[in-house]
Amino acid sequence: MKILLAEDDKQLGESLQAALALEGYAVDWMTRGQDILPALDVAAYDALILDIGLPGKSGLDVLQELRQRATTLPVMLLTARDTVADRIQGLDFGADDYLSKPFDVNELFARLRSILRRSAGVAGPSLVAGELEIFPHNHEVRFKGEPVLLPAKEVAVLEVLVRNRGRFVTKTRLAESLYSWDEGVGSNTLEVYISHLRKQFGGDSIETLRGVGYRLAL
Ligand code: CA
Repeated sequence: MKILLAEDDKQLGESLQAALALEGYAVDWMTRGQDILPALDVAAYDALILDIGLPGKSGLDVLQELRQRATTLPVMLLTARDTVADRIQGLDFGADDYLSKPFDVNELFARLRSILRRSAGVAGPSLVAGELEIFPHNHEVRFKGEPVLLPAKEVAVLEVLVRNRGRFVTKTRLAESLYSWDEGVGSNTLEVYISHLRKQFGGDSIETLRGVGYRLAL
């Protein structure tokens, strides 16, 4: 899952980026309000964590413009100004949730999982495709009821495929959801992950459409 983090506080931004990366998210971090919408144009993000008090363009202005584009991207607002008016305006502008600083990073993770579940149309704690079940809160994977141990990046690939069940996901979109700007992507890395997953869940479990991408067939 790929997250865009918009936070101008260097210390908080750095620690959030590191903590989210440890949780298995690919995180791009930006500090200026005017950069957020252009960034959303060039890469496919699964959620936006948006500080209200950003230089250049306020988080609320970014949010309002974003929602005028009729996108459903899940947005979590961060607010230092603990005023009811800000929160009401943020929610009315289309934020999915908010957190007031200071907050516990574990609460941020839980709320992030919650808005990601809702955006995938899932109400429970797990994602299910046939006999495959993924628990995003602890990255646990079960197949036919049995736990399956997989490297974190392979769980991430699987999660994107399950969230897009029934649709082909392009290689670009998959690679983007795995890596942030700062990380290099080996050209064959994705193919290696897919090949491992097929060994685990069966050769027919993931379909390839040449030149397009992959689709889960469970
Ligand atoms: Ca700020």
